[in-house]
Amino acid sequence: MRIVVTIDGPAGAGKSTVAKSLANELGWRYLDTGALYRAVALIAGERGVTSDDAHGLGALTAALQITQDPQGRTFVADRDVSADIRSETVSDGASRISAHPPVRAALVEVQRSVAQAGHLVCEGRDMGTVIFPEAQLKVFLVADARTRAMRRAKDLDAQGEPCDLEELVAKIEERDRRDTSRATSPLEKHNDMVEVDTSDLSIEQVLERLQQLVAEQVER
Ligand code: C5P
Repeated sequence: MRIVVTIDGPAGAGKSTVAKSLANELGWRYLDTGALYRAVALIAGERGVTSDDAHGLGALTAALQITQDPQGRTFVADRDVSADIRSETVSDGASRISAHPPVRAALVEVQRSVAQAGHLVCEGRDMGTVIFPEAQLKVFLVADARTRAMRRAKDLDAQGEPCDLEELVAKIEERDRRDTSRATSPLEKHNDMVEVDTSDLSIEQVLERLQQLVAEQVER
């Protein structure tokens, strides 16, 4: 039987790092669904499709060939967009375009088809609620906004992008508001999810907690 572990939560809660490490440890596939929305936002920006054009964005998403390899690199056709999708402009664009139902609908199959390839650790905002409601383990990762902004600042610094911490806190809170208040597939914690607060935990400690949850709750 195919096993799916879902990790949902707000930006900067540590989903990508731990989901990737957990998948690695288990030898399972890893799927970063935020990267799919980011790829759409990147291409929409390049082609001049605005973030309020639900119809145009839906058509664009359906026409794009977006894939992710087992290492988590994201491609649009044969272009590797993994680095280009990490800018603040794309973060903001992804959170706007992802509110449109036609965009989400066009990405559902891309996400489910990856799971056909075998056991999976996936991360996003609606993994446990909409895309893989049958998952054996559903985790909801959280951390306070300031901690998340500080993590983001570190990432941006490493990319050579200057940033202001207060501005980042405000942006993160704005993205949280958009992700949790949209009508379609909002970010929400359901009763069947296990919440893990990563604010005061190291990556190693979060990973340890997830490994423990897999051992306790996943039948292999
Ligand atoms: O996780 P990441 O920050 O890369 O996601 C970028 C944006 O994509 C989020 O702010 C969210 O609006 C959107 N997203 C989504 N559903 C997912 C994953 C990401 O709406 N499953």
